[in-house]
Amino acid sequence: MSETNPAGFRCGTTALVGRPNVGKSTLLNAMLGWHLSIAGPKPQTTRHRILGILTRPQGQILFLDTPGMHRGGGRAMNRQLNRTARQAIAEADVAVQIVEAGRWTAEDTQVWNALDGSRPRLIAINKVDAIKNKSALLPFIERIGVERAPDAVYLVSAKRRDGLDDLVNGIISRLPVGAAIFAEDELTDRSERFLAGEMVREQVMLRLGQELPYAATVEVSEFSEADGRATIHATIWVEREGQKTIVIGAGGAQLKAIGSAARRVMEKAFDRRVHLQLWVRVRENWSDDEAALKRFGYTE
Ligand code: GDP
Ligand code: MG
Repeated sequence: MSETNPAGFRCGTTALVGRPNVGKSTLLNAMLGWHLSIAGPKPQTTRHRILGILTRPQGQILFLDTPGMHRGGGRAMNRQLNRTARQAIAEADVAVQIVEAGRWTAEDTQVWNALDGSRPRLIAINKVDAIKNKSALLPFIERIGVERAPDAVYLVSAKRRDGLDDLVNGIISRLPVGAAIFAEDELTDRSERFLAGEMVREQVMLRLGQELPYAATVEVSEFSEADGRATIHATIWVEREGQKTIVIGAGGAQLKAIGSAARRVMEKAFDRRVHLQLWVRVRENWSDDEAALKRFGYTE
């Protein structure tokens, strides 16, 4: 790649940080222009560290999507989430904290304080589409500037894809000068097999996040190709029999809906036909069990 890179090309990692639900995953997907990171209305939707690669003529950004930081992480799962977020910050050349327009909470302050000044710190104020009267945001922006002194502030709407170019350019201009690490058509360091599991989990969270706060995980047991079609077998693991009943739904309707929605997302992201088969199984208390977390890929 280096011979083809114009002089001054920049490349480096960027951590997207923020308290749960501010729109980190939605923003990452919007910047990348495809569905990498799972997003949803419930916190804790993102669990794994995922690299999203964005290549532009001026530079290459390696985005680290983080699970967000959680207070009072008593369970093994919460401890692991905090560990992943801290690692991403430590690795990053640039940190972007995402906050919600008009709303700065104690948790936002906690996230901000975790970013040390040894790398550029940008703030992206997301969900500006939800603010009817934009001038009402001016005091909010001003206070962030005075109280936090970030290197730059951007106004964006991940949902409407507003302000994304400015943010992307602002990030690239702060990365170290260097050749691209990945080819320009590479989009992630994760396999389709891994992404397929996340896409099933996303549908479970979207439909059942209320009933199953974080009791479901997905294990892909088969991922094979034939005749331009991917065959994917996956198991949704829950913690109790009652949860299994909920995931399956009356007459299997819920599981069927989860499967067909996940399949549609996969066919779009992988650009081919997908045959998806799902099972639901119980493993008691897996989210507080280190051995289970390892098996499901949450720890090394
Ligand atoms: P994360 O926990 O920070 O990764 O947040 P998600 O990306 O999962 O998003 C949390 C919720 O905020 C979802 O319901 C999104 O649809 C919503 N959301 C994200 N970005 C925007 C935005 O720009 N505008 C509005 N109105 N909602 C958004
Ligand atoms: Mg997320």
